[in-house]
Amino acid sequence: MMLYLIERYTNNKDTTTMKQRIKQLAQDTLDVIAYSVVGILTVIAVDKLEPHKAILEARDRIINLHHYKATFAKAKLIHAKLAKHSGMPHQIPGLKLHDSTMVNAFVTANDMYITQGMLDHAKSDAELAYVLGHEMGHTMLYHTTRPPNMKYTDSRIHEANVDKIAIYLMVRTGYNICNVGDVWKRLGDKYGHGAASDSHPSYLYRMHELTFPNCGG
Ligand SMILES: [Zn+2]
Repeated sequence: MMLYLIERYTNNKDTTTMKQRIKQLAQDTLDVIAYSVVGILTVIAVDKLEPHKAILEARDRIINLHHYKATFAKAKLIHAKLAKHSGMPHQIPGLKLHDSTMVNAFVTANDMYITQGMLDHAKSDAELAYVLGHEMGHTMLYHTTRPPNMKYTDSRIHEANVDKIAIYLMVRTGYNICNVGDVWKRLGDKYGHGAASDSHPSYLYRMHELTFPNCGG
């Protein structure tokens, strides 16, 4: 495995610097260890000792890695289910994990990203489906491939339109839409409900837009 990794990184012809490549190699090596029996035993053993801070950090990284690998795998499954109902599954970009604590998801013409922060923020499969369905909506309405000469007001309209696509995809895929507004409620509780960027509607607007009276029968 080690030899494979070294070969993979020394043959890498892209523009990353040697320092970045070594850092990536170290991270990948840690990932391999984290998935081994040694990794699991280390997590257990470290709890019994009073180890150095660096060891504790390494332990936390192993736990983190397992956590995000599992939740990201779930997000990918939800992404695949929603994409099937988009009517354009082959144009929907694949999902990637973005290593950031920011609560965010975004899509370009080629890739869709969800942050670790968003994986922590979303409290249910339905909330994840809403977030991913929203990003799919940007692709389905050609916001990423035919970007208009965008004014901020247009951008806010796009965001509201795309939220409706997210709900459409959720209903078609069989997710419960009743409480998806909670995604914004919790963010609003944290950062203030009036908070809106120039390009996005306020949390309060989005929360109300995603409220469905008599939902669930
Ligand atoms: Zn959006």
